[in-house]
Amino acid sequence: MHPERAECGKLSQLLEQLGKDLDQYLCFDQPDAMSDSECWKTALGGALPEKGVGADQVIADMGQYLIPNGSAIPRPGCTSYITTGATSVGALASLSGSVAAPQRFGLTAFNYLEELSLEWMAKLFELPGEMKGIYSSGGSVANLIALGTARQAAFEKLGHDAARDGVLTPSRIYTSSESHHSVHRAAAVLGMGRASVVAVEVDDRGSLCPAALQQQLLEDQGKDIVPVAIVANAGSTNTGAIDPLQAIGELAAEHGIWFHVDGAYGLPGILDPQVRHLYDGLALADSVTVDPHKWLGTPVGIGATYVRGRDVLQRAFTQGSADYLEGSFVQGETLNSMDSFGVPYNEYGVELSAPSRGAVVWAVIREIGLEGMRERVCRHNNMARHLAQLVQAHPRLEVVVEPTLSICCFRYVSEDCADTDDLNRRIHRDLVRHGVNIPSTTMINNKLVIRPCFIGARTQWHHAEDLLDEVILTGDRLIAESLQQSNN
Ligand SMILES: *Cc1c(COP(=O)(O)O)cnc(C)c1O
Repeated sequence: MHPERAECGKLSQLLEQLGKDLDQYLCFDQPDAMSDSECWKTALGGALPEKGVGADQVIADMGQYLIPNGSAIPRPGCTSYITTGATSVGALASLSGSVAAPQRFGLTAFNYLEELSLEWMAKLFELPGEMKGIYSSGGSVANLIALGTARQAAFEKLGHDAARDGVLTPSRIYTSSESHHSVHRAAAVLGMGRASVVAVEVDDRGSLCPAALQQQLLEDQGKDIVPVAIVANAGSTNTGAIDPLQAIGELAAEHGIWFHVDGAYGLPGILDPQVRHLYDGLALADSVTVDPHKWLGTPVGIGATYVRGRDVLQRAFTQGSADYLEGSFVQGETLNSMDSFGVPYNEYGVELSAPSRGAVVWAVIREIGLEGMRERVCRHNNMARHLAQLVQAHPRLEVVVEPTLSICCFRYVSEDCADTDDLNRRIHRDLVRHGVNIPSTTMINNKLVIRPCFIGARTQWHHAEDLLDEVILTGDRLIAESLQQSNN
């Protein structure tokens, strides 16, 4: 018999090396990964290995070629994505789970933290007491679970089990034109079709107009259509807009339609006293999603869905019976942690095997507490507001949408340039190439804008001003260059 070739221990030794390499990466003094991609592709690539190189060499390769050529997303000046680099305890809790609890089920400390951390988050974000959560891989799947539950509830009212029999009647999901495309994909996966998503008009700030929603609901009344859900944003991806939750929730209740709040990005904004009132009406929600891998700074791969009670979740997502699950539910006395699944999360969502995400969320909350979370959220929101003030005060900059949360949409304008969209696109390209301040761009009311979203734990106050300085310098330089060219 051959012994096992894979190293199955020696973690302290390997981690010591890996820790050094990761700390080095976090200095962010390496050039962008694409600058020398031939080198690392050669070092890491090659044909399928016939014999392995052993654990030490793999860790060495990771330190030399893999980690230094990772993503720019964790950089403190990277404000383009809403996902961000993990903080230390989150990354280490994730590692702990992969070693000590590769599944979230079983009566283990990890399974216990799955439920506890969901309760902590519900408290942190002031969700209604009876709401219960379930983790999944991120906001997209979290929205799928919420809308799958809404679909189940809507069709059950008609005496139809959509999970068992599918969807026969045309259905509708009402949401703002600013809603995340994962809502459309969820509709597709759930057999309702993307076309079932009705985009309701928004105001200048990107938040849904309740009057337009009401009109749409009235228009559809009496048609052979099943209204499945109304989806509101608590922090839109584009501008951070928060839809009027109270008014929308009341409309949903009046029409007997499931009310889902997508807070994947913005739910933690409720911690900021300056915008707390915009979350009034959250208590009316039937389901809420939030992404710990955004503002909470966990490693990517963690989203959460909250629903009132888990019965309808189970009816929407139950696996039905499977022989290989036999014996998993032992009635009576528990003798061993493998005697029971603990809370059977696999019955409430779309995943069976899944990592222990609760320990990660528990770790990041336990580290800094509610106060630390509030400080982070307030810092980022204040940065967006501060940036907007500086932009307003500058002769060659304009705010395109006033920030609600931590996103500020602005652009550079010049009398010497007719194509403002193109100018801002070129400024943005320059910033990305330089690799220090990396916002994104987006289109707002047919204007191309520069869009930083302050979200990362490493993103500090001065990064807002650094970004602004670079935009001004770059814009001024591009204008000067084009004037020079036209003079020649
Ligand atoms: C980011 C985001 C999502 C999708 O989340 P993923 O974790 O990227 O799948 C959904 N809705 C909103 C409002 C978001 O900002």
